[in-house]
Amino acid sequence: RVKERGKAHYQFYRTDMNSAFTNVVTLETHLRRAIEKNELMVYYQPQIDMKSGKAKSFEALLRWKDTEFGFISPGVFIPLAEDTGLILSIGYWVIETVCQQIKYWTDKGYSDYRVAINISPKQFQHPNLVPFIQFMIEQYNIKASSIEIEITEGVMNDTKETIPILKKLKQLGLSISIDDFGTGYSSLNYIKQFPIDGLKIDQSFIRDIMDDKKNAAITSTIIHLGKSLGLEVIAEGVENKRQVDFLLKEECHKIQGFFYSRPIPAFELEKQFLTKN
Ligand code: C2E
Ligand code: MG
Ligand code: MG
Ligand code: MG
Repeated sequence: RVKERGKAHYQFYRTDMNSAFTNVVTLETHLRRAIEKNELMVYYQPQIDMKSGKAKSFEALLRWKDTEFGFISPGVFIPLAEDTGLILSIGYWVIETVCQQIKYWTDKGYSDYRVAINISPKQFQHPNLVPFIQFMIEQYNIKASSIEIEITEGVMNDTKETIPILKKLKQLGLSISIDDFGTGYSSLNYIKQFPIDGLKIDQSFIRDIMDDKKNAAITSTIIHLGKSLGLEVIAEGVENKRQVDFLLKEECHKIQGFFYSRPIPAFELEKQFLTKN
């Protein structure tokens, strides 16, 4: 039942991370148990707005701490979850957890913050996605504008299916951004047609921006493309001051990366980054 991609990821996992899982089924069993035992957590990473210097938005990132094996990277278990269909229950759990968190922060007087949620292609295409999000927004009585959806270019393959879903999400009041921009099928025609709000420049371009002229050129081009189309541009994977200086010079709107903060638990984020107006 497990497809090739899962196996490939498992091999990476086994050699590089932990030899305790003897096969991919073990990992799947552990993941199922983790969902039941509520061992998944959502961490948050701030996105710093370059004009104000403030963090007004955060990306929600899944964390899984297995009781036996410790932290397992989403880079490992998300592809497995996609292949096994577990991504649906995980994805809905993430959406609800984030809505709950936004409600909690709003009630405490922290307002006007936005949280970006990663939506996998399989979940994006699922007919329950839009109704579920709408239900959660009503249930927790939060502003739709406090939620952003991150999709990858992989979702854009089928424009006939994609555009109506994006339009419905926009009608609800959510923001939409394209994650890992520049690594997939970045047809400019899609960018033109899709009702999106932002682009996230993939970290592979940012990584050696200072030593690789081509990556620097691609980064500036994405920033200028995004700006001329009226989109918000975020650089992710920013780890040092030289990268920040380059992005400031190019007038990138927002920066996300270890330079400012790693993804951290909600209570840490509240202590370090939230302020009351
Ligand atoms: P992504 O959405 O592109 O998330 C950014 C990744 O870059 C995160 O990895 C984050 O921890 C990492 N990162 C942030 N700043 C830096 C930096 O300065 N340097 C480096 N080296 N890395 C940085 P993470 O949390 O391991 O997540 C990996 C991927 O797993 C995500 O990539 C996303 O595709 C997926 N993922 C994570 N959480 C979820 C989720 O709730 N749902 C879905 N569908 N996918 C998720
Ligand atoms: Mg993302
Ligand atoms: Mg990304
Ligand atoms: Mg990614």
